[in-house]
Amino acid sequence: MKPIYLDYAATTPADKFALAAAKPYMTSIYYNPSSMHSLGRRAYAAVERAREKTARAIGALSDEIIFTSCGTEAIQQALLCFPYGERKKVIVSAIEHDSVTACADELIKRGITVEKIMPTFDGIITPEALKNVIDESTALVCVMTVNNQTGAVQPVRELADVAHRHGALFFTDAVQAVCTTDINVASTGVDMLAASAHKFYSLKGSGFLYKKKTVKLNPFIVGGRQEYGLRAGTENVPSIVAMGEAIERAVVDRREFTEQVTAAENAFFSGLTVGKIVTVANRAAGISSVVFDGVNGGRLAIALSLAGVCCSVGSACSSGSATPPPTLVAMGVKNPECAVRFSFGKNTTPDEAARAARIVNLTVDKLKKKS
Ligand code: PLP
Repeated sequence: MKPIYLDYAATTPADKFALAAAKPYMTSIYYNPSSMHSLGRRAYAAVERAREKTARAIGALSDEIIFTSCGTEAIQQALLCFPYGERKKVIVSAIEHDSVTACADELIKRGITVEKIMPTFDGIITPEALKNVIDESTALVCVMTVNNQTGAVQPVRELADVAHRHGALFFTDAVQAVCTTDINVASTGVDMLAASAHKFYSLKGSGFLYKKKTVKLNPFIVGGRQEYGLRAGTENVPSIVAMGEAIERAVVDRREFTEQVTAAENAFFSGLTVGKIVTVANRAAGISSVVFDGVNGGRLAIALSLAGVCCSVGSACSSGSATPPPTLVAMGVKNPECAVRFSFGKNTTPDEAARAARIVNLTVDKLKKKS
């Protein structure tokens, strides 16, 4: 039997609309958008249309969108290409993805002071926690929109407000947010935002950084004038075109998506007789961690994979590792090394989810008996 995929936070399949939009740019319209001739102009126009769609989906202007190869790259551009001046402090939440914490480590090496802010026991970075550490030396505040381990939705607008009141800029990693959460930069006021196409039913190979017009960055890749000279290199046209299509649909489909995914989650959690769900104050549908006391999460994820359920421990990039997810550690969750993340997608049916719950119950019982 086909394994049940409960790892949509790691990646999603490209939907048929995204694929159809991309196809001509892999076959007949394969031209280089930088070519001055009429055929090159067709590829260029397609990239610019995708930029408009992407901008519209998040309430931005077209020239505030920089296409990247993935979410990690967008995050690196925001944090490592920022021209730190007099202000030499960056505040980073303790629940960020590795792609952000690795940048924070790099910033420390470059002489920037990095301060961490801790979440509440229910997974939220509060404006009060930020107020306690922010001061006039703060250049940037980084708090993600939706957490990749718990699904906790962060109060981005309020946090951005605190940052601005102290003259700092606000960056948010919205990689896990696009399908479920309003990421309109006009209403949240964030200065920079990162997202990744393969997390919202489009192709791998593209993502984007939103950068408010007034924010200046140094180039990430030099050698060409693409992406306003900030990210040289020939664009991944098919993936960018697909992303424009997918983000437009993701915004329209948000409510339906949430309903579908919630139905699958409900079937899963009501069938689960083992484990404790990590509860958070405000959760986006689709992502949850469950702690199975007495069973190591890494061991369980491997056993579940053999039994036909694919889920993950830690973040996507470290799937298979048994180190406790930093988010759960920061929240003070007991036995975080026993956690497994289940993430649901629009293709998950309630039947499939209920079947997965039965497999989890059996597998946990078996592992407990063995140990
Ligand atoms: N940020 C978050 C919250 C993520 O979950 C991920 C990937 O899992 C990333 C960033 C990295 O995105 P990408 O895989 O597109 O580099």
